[in-house]
Amino acid sequence: MGDEKKVDVAANAAAFLEQDEVHEPMHDKNLWAARMHRDAAARAVPEWEELRKIASQIKEHTLTHLPDYLREFENNALKRGAKVYWARDAAEHNQHVWDILQEKNIRAVIKSKSMLQEECGMTAFLEKRGITVTESDLGERIQQLDDQPPSHIVMPAIHKTPEDVAQLFARSIGTDPGNTDPHYLTEAMRNDARKRFLEAGAGMTGANFAIAETGSFVVCTNEGNADIGAAVPPVHIASIGIEKLLPKVSDLGIFIRMLSRSALGTLATQYTSHFSGPRRGGELHIILTDNGRSRRLGMPDFWTSLKCIRCGACMNTCPVYRRSGGLAYGATYSGPIGIILDPTFDESRYSELPYHSSLCGSCTEVCPVKIDISDQILKWRKVMAAKKYLPVSRRLAFGAAGRIFEHPQLFRSAESMASGALRFTPHFLLYNKVLNPWGRHRELPHFAGQTFREWYLQYRAKNNDHGEQHT
Ligand code: SF4
Repeated sequence: MGDEKKVDVAANAAAFLEQDEVHEPMHDKNLWAARMHRDAAARAVPEWEELRKIASQIKEHTLTHLPDYLREFENNALKRGAKVYWARDAAEHNQHVWDILQEKNIRAVIKSKSMLQEECGMTAFLEKRGITVTESDLGERIQQLDDQPPSHIVMPAIHKTPEDVAQLFARSIGTDPGNTDPHYLTEAMRNDARKRFLEAGAGMTGANFAIAETGSFVVCTNEGNADIGAAVPPVHIASIGIEKLLPKVSDLGIFIRMLSRSALGTLATQYTSHFSGPRRGGELHIILTDNGRSRRLGMPDFWTSLKCIRCGACMNTCPVYRRSGGLAYGATYSGPIGIILDPTFDESRYSELPYHSSLCGSCTEVCPVKIDISDQILKWRKVMAAKKYLPVSRRLAFGAAGRIFEHPQLFRSAESMASGALRFTPHFLLYNKVLNPWGRHRELPHFAGQTFREWYLQYRAKNNDHGEQHT
């Protein structure tokens, strides 16, 4: 992965913004609506802040005792009749899946949404070996048919309009290209998926939570697709990231209450399914996967990112994510959570991501497990600067800014020069694709006639003349 080209987030975001006048405002509006729903749902729970605190504590406790809870989970899952596998990385995870399918002579798989399987590049791995893989979550299926990764961890196709989906379905499953009615499109996809459920030799799921005390796990969906996938084919394979562990069943209530409220502002996901061992006559295979999580656990500044429950609230609220779209990040995870997770997979490739943030702190405010996301973004910037991942032009600009901020006299001179210079700088130099790619979609506000410092000194002099006291 280290050799892959660096993701040019600004160029990707510009492509999303500039495609037309429809996609970006729709994306912004829909995600902000989700944020508003989340706020209303959180306000309706008087003990919300207490729940966030407890959820964070449970996660931190589990992560700092992870080996014990993983062993407990494994023992209990084995007792219930599941087969348990351990995967150090994506390659081992995919190999386990392939081995299971080979052994059973399975050629078709139906899967529900799993960011871990996405992270492992599992679908491409299996397809290369002749396995037919079908996504059963509607948004994921849309993305699969369009040969795109998910752009959001909860709403994978949120960047698409109904017209986009109608055109896509017309090309891939023969629907009417002019019919954008969501019921019509959903029904058409449901009919297309039915036969795939019946033909699949294995159903694959992820897991939202895994319970050490019982060796069981929970999958939350709004479409019930994971339940059909786990119930119809004879083999169920579940990929579980090792950070998904919770100690006890009694811990679940807190997280179930927070997950859907944080994601979409709904009281609970439509389906909260508990899997405790294989169903009668079937098989359950659980792949406990590390893929960089242990290494992240050893990073003092970044280990708490493992508390994430993938609710997407930080994405919905992020002003940069809402306007640039999830595909701009060029990674499995996008938005604020992506900024702090992706560099742990490949620092060089994702070195631009930490600059894709206004550092407004809204992500930290909404995170149900109290991850200090904006602090971690800032810390990643320091890592990227120290390792010289920034382009020379940016390093020189930041170096110059640092020297100016260090010297008050220099700062004062720069301040008065800047407002004058900006007022007379030609527009094409200020809003320039090369020098200022972020500026092309924003107009600077008009500069005030005097700086705050000038105003304050005048104000103080005037009021002191009147004998006012200042502290
Ligand atoms: S970082 Fe927090 S807000 Fe963002 S997806 Fe994870 S749990 Fe949700």
